[in-house]
Amino acid sequence: MSNRTFTMIKPDAFASGYTGAILKQIEGAGFRIVAMKLTRLSAEKAGEFYAVHAERPFYGELVDFMSSGPIVAAILEKDNAVEDFRKLIGATNPANAEEGTIRKLYAKSVGENAVHGSDSNENAAIEGNFFFSAFERI
Ligand code: GDP
Repeated sequence: MSNRTFTMIKPDAFASGYTGAILKQIEGAGFRIVAMKLTRLSAEKAGEFYAVHAERPFYGELVDFMSSGPIVAAILEKDNAVEDFRKLIGATNPANAEEGTIRKLYAKSVGENAVHGSDSNENAAIEGNFFFSAFERI
């Protein structure tokens, strides 16, 4: 799985109509879409996805935000996918993100930051499995 990562276009970016532009940037950077769906997380599912952050002060806000509207979830494939995708999306806080990164271009704030990207190969596999069964991957 080291050539795969997992992403979500978060509710802020979907609601703002940035889905097409973000997917264009992702494909333009050489990532192949292996699986993709438009869906919506319940608060329970959002809490489960971000369980690692349960003790953080922003956890409640994060769960509310991630369950506030539709998201696009996708598995992406490319050599060195996890690291290259983190570079493409930029820093968690868009104020610190490099010019041209997806978060610099489309994120509103540290919380409403447009996209998710897995932070390790292990989490990429876990997160992909959270959303997709084997037959949903191309
Ligand atoms: P990421 O790996 O760059 O997504 O960042 P983290 O794993 O540190 O945090 C996960 C997600 O929690 C971020 O992408 C944000 O949506 C949210 N988040 C992180 N820090 C804050 C914060 O200080 N306030 C709020 N409201 N949300 C945050």
